[in-house]
Amino acid sequence: MHEMALMGDILQIVWEDAQRQGFSKVTKVELTVGKLSQAMPEALEMAFSIYKEQYNHIFDQSAEIKFDIEEAVACCIECNTTYIPDRKITICPGCGMPTGNLIKGETFQVKSYEGS
Ligand SMILES: [Zn+2]
Repeated sequence: MHEMALMGDILQIVWEDAQRQGFSKVTKVELTVGKLSQAMPEALEMAFSIYKEQYNHIFDQSAEIKFDIEEAVACCIECNTTYIPDRKITICPGCGMPTGNLIKGETFQVKSYEGS
């Protein structure tokens, strides 16, 4: 489950920043997760609850995680058609060429977090 490693990295970043802001606990984390980022929100949520328990000096036990799901968008470099792809490499519905360029949908980052 690579979400465990992804979540570990994310929480490390959040915690370092939280300390700089003078927070003693993190109470909420919101992530932007692209539909094609290959990170499953369910698995991320599970990883979060494991870390939350493990690092209870960092996370408030009522801390929650939220996901802002980013829809995937591709734009064809041949004919400029914009469409919603279901995977990274797709056939353009406008010209039928495999020239769709993914412009959104692979994001995996911290959108915001709250601490106290
Ligand atoms: Zn096209």
